Amino acid sequence: MFDNLQDRLGSILNGLTGRGSLSDKDVQAALREVRRALLEADVSLEVVRGFVERVREKAVGAEIVKSIKPGQMVVKIVHDELVETLGSEGVTIDLNAAAPVVVMMVGLQGSGKTTTTGKIAKRITDRERKKVLMASLDTQRPAAQEQLKQLGEQTGIDTLPVIAGQKPTDIASRAVQAAKLGGHDVVILDTAGRTHIDEPLMQEMAEIRARSRPHETLLVADALTGQDAVNVAQSFDERVGITGLVLTRMDGDGRGGAALSMRAVTGKPIKLIGVGEKMDALEEFHPKRIADRILGMGDIVSLVEKAAQTIDQEKAQAMADRMKAGKFDLNDLADQLRQMSKMGGMGGIMGMMPGAGKMTDQMAAAGFDDKAFARQLAIIQSMTKHERAHPDVLKHSRKKRIATGSGTTSADINKLLKMHRQMADVMKAMGGKGKKAGMLGKML
Ligand code: GDP
Repeated sequence: MFDNLQDRLGSILNGLTGRGSLSDKDVQAALREVRRALLEADVSLEVVRGFVERVREKAVGAEIVKSIKPGQMVVKIVHDELVETLGSEGVTIDLNAAAPVVVMMVGLQGSGKTTTTGKIAKRITDRERKKVLMASLDTQRPAAQEQLKQLGEQTGIDTLPVIAGQKPTDIASRAVQAAKLGGHDVVILDTAGRTHIDEPLMQEMAEIRARSRPHETLLVADALTGQDAVNVAQSFDERVGITGLVLTRMDGDGRGGAALSMRAVTGKPIKLIGVGEKMDALEEFHPKRIADRILGMGDIVSLVEKAAQTIDQEKAQAMADRMKAGKFDLNDLADQLRQMSKMGGMGGIMGMMPGAGKMTDQMAAAGFDDKAFARQLAIIQSMTKHERAHPDVLKHSRKKRIATGSGTTSADINKLLKMHRQMADVMKAMGGKGKKAGMLGKML
């Protein structure tokens, strides 16, 4: 199952140390799984090959972000490549042309062409306040023209009156003419489909296109279409010429592999997606969402992006909790010194304790500045475990030993101890006050 790509990659790559950079061997193993997963998501073999090759080039030698497992890193690279392959965000129907702007809908029978024609017409009417005319050019299926007429009645959008026996190309010309006369801004041509690609259909589409000169020719394709997607997209693009894709049934359980294949093969943008049978179930295309869906594990990607940050935050929170409980020995101080250099000063930790701003000021006044961190840390590291947990035992001889060990002076040590005492006092006071006052206690 595709859902388990995460596990598969995990079992292959979790054994690695997670340090340094991804080796060719690591990547090979991971890519075998990625390849299998993409094929299971119905991405065509040809597209998978090119895709995997591009990921390989990016992944081998890629540096592994701190606190991320190599498997997760590969997933992130795969995800980014998916987004790139799926194309940019926010490309939608282009209506910038002289009125009436002709939009031609093409696609196989049952792909959702008629439904999408109605959805697009409604969208343009509602959002752009344009006057739209819809025309059915499907003379093959007797009910097709009636279906569009009903959609028109349902949505309040004009449809071209049906004249029995007229050829599709003639209907197209008549539609454009009617739009001109009727003052329509946009005319949408809903063409006939077939159950599969055939020559007469392609011929008919090419003729309609030549005759009506559409500004947009949109291929409507079912997202649940499997390996056939490439064939369909390629044929329509080569024979008719398309300007964009509309993927329907994105509300189904399809993995969206067809989207990737069609986009990769035609290079044409996915402009809209259908997400239901209702007239308003049409959305803009967001490559990141589809990439998450194809991978079935979007969380990993944000995990990778947020990992370092989150881990630091968790540590800081744990520290803040100890402070609140009034437990703050020199071990905590050492931890904090290390954290602080990573987090850009006191602010990161103190920011988690509401009302701690004052304390930060006091600490700065006590000489708790970033420059002194390294020296202070060295002092604490020269202490024994017992000394760190019980600073009271630090008398003259111990201080001398520590000063020698850390390359500092007794005065430095006194300063550090004073600072620690002040901090511990302030923290205890804050905790105690909170318990009594209630208010601050809740905040903390
Ligand atoms: P056409 O033969 O290409 O014109 O296809 P239709 O527009 O008649 O659609 C065929 C079926 O698919 C109808 O039952 C539609 O309601 C349904 N359909 C179309 N688009 C979507 C979609 O985005 N999601 C779902 N769930 N169904 C859709």
